[in-house]
Amino acid sequence: MSLGYLAEMAERLSLPVEKINWAQDFADLLVPGKRICVTTHVNPDGDGIGSSVGLVRLLREFGANAIIVNPTPTPSRFQFLFRELPGVDRTVEAVKELRRADVIVVLDIADVDRLGMLSETVASRGVPVACVDHHISPGHLPAGPRYVDSGAAATGELIFEIALANGWQVTREAARALYVAILTDTGGFRFSNTHPRTLRIAAELLETGIDPEEIYLDVYANAPEGRPRLLAEALQTLVVEPECGLAWVTVPPGVVERLGLSSDDLEGVVEFPRSIAGVRLALLFREIHQGRVKVSLRSVGKVDVAAFARQFGGGGHTKAAGVSLVGTLAEVQATVLAAARTFLASDPCS
Ligand code: AMP
Ligand code: MN
Ligand code: MN
Repeated sequence: MSLGYLAEMAERLSLPVEKINWAQDFADLLVPGKRICVTTHVNPDGDGIGSSVGLVRLLREFGANAIIVNPTPTPSRFQFLFRELPGVDRTVEAVKELRRADVIVVLDIADVDRLGMLSETVASRGVPVACVDHHISPGHLPAGPRYVDSGAAATGELIFEIALANGWQVTREAARALYVAILTDTGGFRFSNTHPRTLRIAAELLETGIDPEEIYLDVYANAPEGRPRLLAEALQTLVVEPECGLAWVTVPPGVVERLGLSSDDLEGVVEFPRSIAGVRLALLFREIHQGRVKVSLRSVGKVDVAAFARQFGGGGHTKAAGVSLVGTLAEVQATVLAAARTFLASDPCS
């Protein structure tokens, strides 16, 4: 993309002055010669990985170097984004790399606690910690530039805006990664976060020549055989309470490991209880390790699952949120389902 074209795009996307200033604060920090570490939340998703790879690609175009250091490994589904990026995913040496960083960039979260085993290192390093995020839940991070907009469908959308505001060259490779970020966080451009500007940005990414079918195949049609088998086992557990519009599934303990899968393979499973007519709140329960259970929450209509998750220390978006709780599967289910029934009863006509 030429500079003139980028300026024209910035005008069409009507980036407010505030955002242009935020983007410039980023550009001032992310310069050649600095050791930049980019990180995202535990069990990174398509947006976490896509926005990270996208940012790294953009920075490399003008000679700034960045590596990716996450608290948990890159799911195999997204490894295709690293094909021509040898040595960029340094997650295996994350703590060591963070200790040498001049700048840390946190993407797709605004809370240091969501960095899992890297939280303490990031919290105590004393270097600027920049953040790009689209969650409504507030959080705590060490000081540094912020580019936060809960109106964005994906962090990848915001990385594109930062590129635009700074006139950074958006190559085909950067575009592919940012497209993955937006594609996955909008559920394939289906969720209510798919705004006109989301599609405008996706269109600009496609203009670079990336192939949407090839990306679809890499992300959604390259699964191990165990993934549909996992789906089959999880869906067997479906419970529906039509009177309050509640439905949930439970991942049988040990099944992910038995099938040689990872938590990323559970992506989308919660869409099945959500797809039932009359359901307003869908949940997925999964034991993440002994004594800790992850709950994924999705809603239909006006039910605000981020608000619901906050009562338990979780967070996310209005229609997609999560929380991780201490307890056995049975205990967490009893607590969360009781709260869900009360929550839905308090808003019967939404
Ligand atoms: P998930 O159910 O893991 O797909 O997550 C849905 C949304 O909720 C994402 O935007 C996550 O960032 C957010 N989320 C998931 N788990 C947690 C958690 N333990 N605390 C705060 N936010 C979470
Ligand atoms: Mn995410
Ligand atoms: Mn996201």
